[in-house]
Amino acid sequence: MQGGTVLSSAARIFLQTLPFSLCIITYPAAETEEARMKAEKKCREAVFADSAVRDAANICSDAACNKTLILFVPGGKTRQESVLHALEAAAKNLSAHGKGANPLVFIHDGARPFVSADIIRDCKNAAEAYGAAVPALQPVDTQKAIDERGFITRHLVRANLAAVQTPQVFRLKPLLTAHRAAAAEHRECTDDTEIWDRYAADGKTYMVTKIVAGSSENKKITYPSDIPQEAAKEQSMNIHTGLGYDKHVLVEGRKLMLGGVEIPFEKGEAGHSDGDVLLHAITDALLGAAALGDIGSYFPPSDAKWKDADSKMLLQTVWKDIKAAGWTLGNMDCVIALEEPKFLPHRDAVRSSIAQVLGVDAGQVFVKAKTGEKTGDVGTGKVVEAFVTCLLTRN
Ligand code: MG
Repeated sequence: MQGGTVLSSAARIFLQTLPFSLCIITYPAAETEEARMKAEKKCREAVFADSAVRDAANICSDAACNKTLILFVPGGKTRQESVLHALEAAAKNLSAHGKGANPLVFIHDGARPFVSADIIRDCKNAAEAYGAAVPALQPVDTQKAIDERGFITRHLVRANLAAVQTPQVFRLKPLLTAHRAAAAEHRECTDDTEIWDRYAADGKTYMVTKIVAGSSENKKITYPSDIPQEAAKEQSMNIHTGLGYDKHVLVEGRKLMLGGVEIPFEKGEAGHSDGDVLLHAITDALLGAAALGDIGSYFPPSDAKWKDADSKMLLQTVWKDIKAAGWTLGNMDCVIALEEPKFLPHRDAVRSSIAQVLGVDAGQVFVKAKTGEKTGDVGTGKVVEAFVTCLLTRN
């Protein structure tokens, strides 16, 4: 939060956008004076964690000062009660300082730090014109009214619906009168616009609340992933790439195994296991992406039990561990360096074979081949090589 807290970020954008004379922060209600002082201290520290807020604040309560006076007020048992406490404090302070007869008051959730300056200004302009304004988003999904047992009771028309955000902006005096009336009737309202529309809007002096365009970014922080940089951090931690390479000498009297498929040819890979160069590179790429080791540490060549082992079985063993660690395959791309025979006629069979071993879609696995242009160990048919990259993701 740029070195601050969620609360200080929310306060900062208001103080930097409009010349507020007062900023009132409510902190959780407490049973004892000691607990109250502790709650206030914690709240003050959260708000002043940001130097921009400290600069904007007139903490010496100097009425002649142009800066914003920041007050801390104990909240109530409900959000509605907390707002009423803050409004009472605002009215008292403003009359004591003889400032503006009926100024605008912005009520904002401290957990919405991503509100934009545009939304704040749009709300101010609409509230100046109509007396009350709130940012809102039209729902994307079709909305239904339901009962407490989970059955649909009404089919709502989406075009007539809006999900409201904050700041909710009103003229102070009628809002305070409305809040006092709701409190006297012990009426719990969904938010300040309901209180305004019920008790303050008379269709003459004041209209019901005007909607201005909200933003999907202006969300309440509920989870760490609601904070963009935290979400990015989580995402980057959950996407891993892997790189695998293997090379085997080609000799007579051995099968040529590529991706679990036997390719008809006069020579095949020498090796401790069945020598499947492609499956070995795949195994190493996947192990590397998951940071779980390599093929040599899993299946030591010194151990006789891996002699002539089926490389599909080796890959399956490794893949089971990788999946157990929460990883799934995004995709895999492979290159085989082989002079002879031609690989293309076998490509589809090899892709299907690899996909089957891993239990993934053949579309997630691609394989292509290159010759050695008759030079080097590949080009003279001495060796076959495989290169593999893969992408693993984890939620
Ligand atoms: Mg090998």
